[in-house]
Amino acid sequence: MELRWDPIMSQWIIVSGKRGGRPLLPEGYCPFCPGSEEIPQKDWTVLSLPNKFPALQPEPPSPSVKFDKLYRCRPARGVCEIIVYTPEHNATLADLSVKNIRAVIDLWTQRFIDLGSLDYVKYVFIFENKGRIIGVTLDHPHGQLYAFPFIPPIIKRELASSRRYWKRTGNCLFCRIIEKEKTCAERIVCENRDFVCFLPFFAHWPYGVQIYPKRHVGALPDLDEEEKDMFASILKRILRKFDNLFEMRFPYMMVLHQRPTDGKDYPYYHFHVEFYPPYRERNKIKYFASVETGAGTVTFDYTPEMKAKELRESPET
Ligand SMILES: [Zn+2]
Ligand SMILES: [Zn+2]
Ligand SMILES: [Zn+2]
Repeated sequence: MELRWDPIMSQWIIVSGKRGGRPLLPEGYCPFCPGSEEIPQKDWTVLSLPNKFPALQPEPPSPSVKFDKLYRCRPARGVCEIIVYTPEHNATLADLSVKNIRAVIDLWTQRFIDLGSLDYVKYVFIFENKGRIIGVTLDHPHGQLYAFPFIPPIIKRELASSRRYWKRTGNCLFCRIIEKEKTCAERIVCENRDFVCFLPFFAHWPYGVQIYPKRHVGALPDLDEEEKDMFASILKRILRKFDNLFEMRFPYMMVLHQRPTDGKDYPYYHFHVEFYPPYRERNKIKYFASVETGAGTVTFDYTPEMKAKELRESPET
C-alpha cells in the first residue's frame, strides 16, 4: 500500500494491493443497517464510519516497493470514510426529506472541518457513487469521503484557471460563470434564493449538471444556516428530476468541489457540486472511451441546451 508518482502525468496513484481482494458480502446482509456489526447503535439519522477497506490510512505502512528519484513513492496517508445517509435501507438520497438531506450536509460540513484540520490532510473530497452501473455493490444509501495528503489533479486544474482569472480580472471565475448562465437562462435547470443548478455551456456529460451557491463561498463551513437549507432543497429537486426523467433510480457520480485544507488561502475558489451521470438517453450509456480517456477531449453528442430543457421540464415530485 503506497502512493506512486506518475512522472509523465505528474500525479499520484494510490496503490493498494489488498483492496482488490475485498470479500463479497453474504446475500441479504447490509453492514449499514441499524443493528449491524458495523453500526450496533439504533438511534441515528446520519453517521460516518471508517471505510473497512481504505485506500488511505492515518498510519499507513512504509512503501513496500523499491523507489528512487524518478519512480517516487510515499506512504498512502489519509482517511477514507463512509457517510451513511439514513437508517432506511431502501431509500436513496432523492427519497429523503429535505430535513434529512440537511442532516447529511451538516455531517459533510463537520467531517470537512475535522479531517481538514489534520496536518497531513491537504484536501477533503466528498462524493457519492450511486448505482450498480457505477460499480456500487451496497444498496444502502451512502456516500464516501477521501481525505487526501495532496491536492488532486482536477482540483489543481480548477485552482490554476480560477487563480489566473482572479489575477487578470479581479473577479471570481465561477461567479462570472453563474452570471453568464443566469443571463442566458437556457441551461438553467432549477434555482432557489441561494443556489442555482445548470448544465454549463461547456458541459462534459449529457446530464452533467452543476450546483453553485450564489454567494461567493469556498467550502461548506462558509455557508450560513439558511443557505444550508437551500442547498438541501435544491439537491432534492435535481435528484427528483433525474429519477422522474428516467423513471428509475438514476445512477450518478456526485462530487463536492471545495477549497483545499492545506492551510493556504484560496480566495478565488468557489464551492460547487458536479454530477457525472453515465446515461446519455434512456437505455443508452455514455462511455468515456478513447477520445475522452486517451486524449482528454470530451465529445458531447447533444447540446447542453437540449439536455437542460429535458431536466427543467422533468417533474420534481
Ligand atoms: Zn441497509
Ligand atoms: Zn465566486
Ligand atoms: Zn469543479
